[in-house]
Amino acid sequence: MQDTETAPAQRHDAGLTWRNRFAALGDAFSTRLAPVPLRAPYWVARSASMAHALGLPEDWWRAPEALEAFTGNRPLAGSEPLASVYSGHQFGHWAGQLGDGRAILLGEVQAADGQTLELQLKGSGLTPYSRMGDGRAVLRSSIREFLASEAMHALGIPTTRALCVTGSDQPVRREEIETAAVVTRVAPSFIRFGHFEHFSARNQLNELRRLADFVIEHFYPDCRDAAQPYAALLAAVTRRTAALVAQWQAVGFMHGVMNTDNMSILGLTIDYGPYQFMDGFDPNHICNHSDSGGRYAYQRQPAVAHWNLFALGQALLPLIGEPDAAMAALEPFKTLYPAEYDRRMAAKLGFARASEHTARWVREALVLMARERTDYPIFWRRLARHAAGAPAETVRELFLDQAAIDALLLSFKELPALAGRALEPDLMLKNNPTIVLRNHLAEQAIAQAKLKNFGMIEELLRVLENPFDDHPAHAPYTDWAGFPPDWAAHIQISCSS
Ligand code: AMP
Ligand code: MG
Repeated sequence: MQDTETAPAQRHDAGLTWRNRFAALGDAFSTRLAPVPLRAPYWVARSASMAHALGLPEDWWRAPEALEAFTGNRPLAGSEPLASVYSGHQFGHWAGQLGDGRAILLGEVQAADGQTLELQLKGSGLTPYSRMGDGRAVLRSSIREFLASEAMHALGIPTTRALCVTGSDQPVRREEIETAAVVTRVAPSFIRFGHFEHFSARNQLNELRRLADFVIEHFYPDCRDAAQPYAALLAAVTRRTAALVAQWQAVGFMHGVMNTDNMSILGLTIDYGPYQFMDGFDPNHICNHSDSGGRYAYQRQPAVAHWNLFALGQALLPLIGEPDAAMAALEPFKTLYPAEYDRRMAAKLGFARASEHTARWVREALVLMARERTDYPIFWRRLARHAAGAPAETVRELFLDQAAIDALLLSFKELPALAGRALEPDLMLKNNPTIVLRNHLAEQAIAQAKLKNFGMIEELLRVLENPFDDHPAHAPYTDWAGFPPDWAAHIQISCSS
């Protein structure tokens, strides 16, 4: 364990009030250790909105100590750095102990709105859980995680967030030599399904109970008063996870590595790796180059989420006691997920409530889009603009099969009468983003960042923070909101990060 900082709080620590509740859980849950420094760090990216939410002053990052602190080179007064232990199922197989192999939890701070948020450094060096890894994250994957975190947040999708990325020229070996970076991630908690699986698999039932009580106390207080608090917890996580995956499907987000150690107990999107936002619609699309079996293909995500919830249910079983009670907590996924998906898709279609008619229209549209690999975000945004008055031709021209799209547009016009309510073009515009973080956009920002030009990250962040707006004054925007270039189809993103 490192020395506790005794000097008076520095400017970059000002504003930050630490609570460190996870550290207080005790040694069974984590190992205390300091991040391993990286030489000559430089700023790569910062999120002003995240800084604001944390109550940091606008110029928080200007102090040289801030750069050092968020690279892990200098302790932040009040933090209690640690790496937590968890296990998990990877690609459907029990993997045993994993843990924070390259992440360090600094502790929890009080945010501007009074919420308690954990700050974590990712890529901050070896920990007892690094296994074969080097404890590092490369610049490429750190930029992808930073941008996706903030983009998903702006889309209204539950996610861990990111405060900043710092880089260093220190080499990191992957398929080729790359350079190191550190992302500062922020979330109410980074606890995963895998944390529960860990203690359950080892039959450490006291720890399992303490962890469940901790999560209930801080994040699911309503469960405390339930007849069976642990079954209630499982049911609550099931609800949040179903709602999360429905949002992923609706926006066309693919996580890529839905292992149980990458599933947040709070129903947040967590651990951005080989994720992708859908370009041309393909329900079988596999975004992770390492996922040869397509376990985590787009249309399998809901079933995988349910499978992962079973793993969590299994882990909680010693606390729940009755297998039937665990099953009853998991069962609602089967109705919650489709209901939530239909609702999200109906909103994309301009209806505040789903009906059999909106659901059928969506199914038919997706069949046609899958046949033609129609660009997913562009189709929906153009349909929204059409509902708001743009000519039908802007949608028709996306398709080769003109008879099919004409029939679809005709039934689109008939929907209000069938659904018994008016279509709301505004609702469509608020549920169909103009811009999402497509792979090729991230790739371009990364290519420039490798040349030490971080301007595109900042500009991309600016438009991704307002994903439902048009940004006509922003020069590259039209390009970014348009079709992906041909080379985008050849981008290969693997687990290696
Ligand atoms: P992931 O699938 O990327 O979420 O990682 C699975 C496990 O591998 C986690 O325990 C990570 O902490 C660990 N891990 C991934 N990359 C590294 C690395 N470069 N060094 C150490 N541990 C790593
Ligand atoms: Mg992970």
